[in-house]
Amino acid sequence: MKIGIAMMSHETNTFSPVITDLDRFSGGHGEPLRGDTALNTYRGTASCLGGYIEVAEQHDVAIEMGIAAAAPPSGPVEDDAFEYMCAAIVELSGRVDALLLDLHGAMTTKSFDDGEGELLRRIRADNPALPIAISLDMHANITELMVSNCDVLTGYHTYPHIDMDSTAVRGARAFFAMLQGAAKPVLRWGNAPMLPHVMRQGTDDEPNASLQARAIALEQAGCLGISVFTGFPHADIYDAGFSVVAMTEGDSEDAQGYVNELLTSAWEAREDFVYEVEPLPESMQRAQAAASAAGDGPVIVLDHYDNTASGGTMDTTEVLSAVLEAGLERVAVFGFYDPEVVAQMTAAGVGATVTVELGGKLPMPALAEQSKPITLTGEVKLISNGKFQAQVAMARGLTINMGTSAVLSVGSVDIAIISRHIEPYDPECFRSLGMEPLAYDYVMLKSRIHYRVGFRDLAKEVIECAGCGVCTSDYSQLTFDKVRRPVYPLDQDGGGANEAWQIPGT
Ligand SMILES: [Zn+2]
Repeated sequence: MKIGIAMMSHETNTFSPVITDLDRFSGGHGEPLRGDTALNTYRGTASCLGGYIEVAEQHDVAIEMGIAAAAPPSGPVEDDAFEYMCAAIVELSGRVDALLLDLHGAMTTKSFDDGEGELLRRIRADNPALPIAISLDMHANITELMVSNCDVLTGYHTYPHIDMDSTAVRGARAFFAMLQGAAKPVLRWGNAPMLPHVMRQGTDDEPNASLQARAIALEQAGCLGISVFTGFPHADIYDAGFSVVAMTEGDSEDAQGYVNELLTSAWEAREDFVYEVEPLPESMQRAQAAASAAGDGPVIVLDHYDNTASGGTMDTTEVLSAVLEAGLERVAVFGFYDPEVVAQMTAAGVGATVTVELGGKLPMPALAEQSKPITLTGEVKLISNGKFQAQVAMARGLTINMGTSAVLSVGSVDIAIISRHIEPYDPECFRSLGMEPLAYDYVMLKSRIHYRVGFRDLAKEVIECAGCGVCTSDYSQLTFDKVRRPVYPLDQDGGGANEAWQIPGT
């Protein structure tokens, strides 16, 4: 038996102007890795592919590694990139007996609102009986097209996502049991008309902590997989939002019961998924008070309207401007995506004094406001190729590529400026650029929840700052045209409990 393994992973922020072309899926390699190069890159890493490879290699099967394409979150995927990836995976599916796919679950393309559903539809159109397992991010927006075109489906239980590999292991074990005739997975799913705020989705916090704990308890009691998807709200597609997929051994009534139970629990807790925004001046005052209070570690200034891992441009300047105007000192900033400024600093060389127009460059037509560049004069502290090995539980073992990177020192404020978008969840992003986060009084991060993996335990306090960006935590700044209505909290009456669930086939 030959098993195919492949990845096509992207979380699409339909409000983001950041272009999602094939290069963005390549990790800086020119085109996405495939074959043995991909196999060797991902084997043993804390990733879904790492989990799939681990289980597949425990079985007496041949493995063909197909394309391994993942792009940081950004705008809708370009059609030629999507067609390239789909063609590669559909071709692979014709050469194998079963397929393990790492898909994010919130991919929107220029032509398809449901990129993963379209991929799976094409695979099954050519190979109707091909067994398929998929693993999905907790931010997946689930569709009927996805669920009806696979046999095994598992999703993360953690946000920050530190269980990608175990999610794939859980799915692959159920999948091999099915292939060997030892299991008959049944999938049922449903969604609730609600868009939980990403800032309220962390699994250290309620209500998601309890929802995921219940899913894990059901798995430990024998369910093949219970996946609670908080969904990705910055995707203006019909099916965006909260959903649950249950996978049980042969019993659809059990599966449906678990779906209904978890949807009901989430719906009852919907107010706790709403995020209250604090005005930026108040956040700055709290940051200064926290820095002067007793305790160890830097104060984290969290610029959560502009994080890469939700499709941010990573170049809005409002929070940095507030930091500078408030006179905060000994600040480490990660970071700004601005290849033009990196090129200018590289040309000037380490030690040179430069005046740059930083950030505010990418137009954000989805918002009423536009960030503007800020003029900064400082010293070029360091130039780097921008590569480091991830050290934390998320992506451990993978090489992270920030592109050519530079550090600009403006007084005691050190700003990391990069040429490829990455999310700052691993302190190594600073350390690889000669900055020790513990040596600063403040660490400013363009992140929402993922920073918790590597930074929260270092921090004295975390101050969430409302800046500007397409990951805005204020839904009123966005125009939703396609998402199903009513939906909470865009509509206060998002439909009654139970009657509101969209449960296919019922
Ligand atoms: Zn996610």
